[in-house]
Amino acid sequence: MKLLTRCANLVEAHHWANLLQAAGIRAEVRNTWLSGAVGDIPQRETWPQLWVPVAQDEAAAMDVIEAAGRDAGKLPVWRCRCGELLEGQFAQCWNCGASRPGAA
Ligand SMILES: [Zn+2]
Repeated sequence: MKLLTRCANLVEAHHWANLLQAAGIRAEVRNTWLSGAVGDIPQRETWPQLWVPVAQDEAAAMDVIEAAGRDAGKLPVWRCRCGELLEGQFAQCWNCGASRPGAA
């Protein structure tokens, strides 16, 4: 299993999982039970996680997510140098604080 990204909420996680499954890529939402533990552990660790079972599917899964963002007229999803996957509206990585490549 390969962790593709964390999502800020379950709706987003399942939305992406559905998109991937529609494209023929198996995806799994994990970490769906931890929201009740917020306060005891870092909040980001409680976010739902989107996993792909096959590491080779990761690039294809990224293509699907990026294409979906383009279709919606949104800024493209980008991957930080630390490996975090971020939606286009974020100009900065929440994991390491790095700015989006090309952003001022
Ligand atoms: Zn980062």
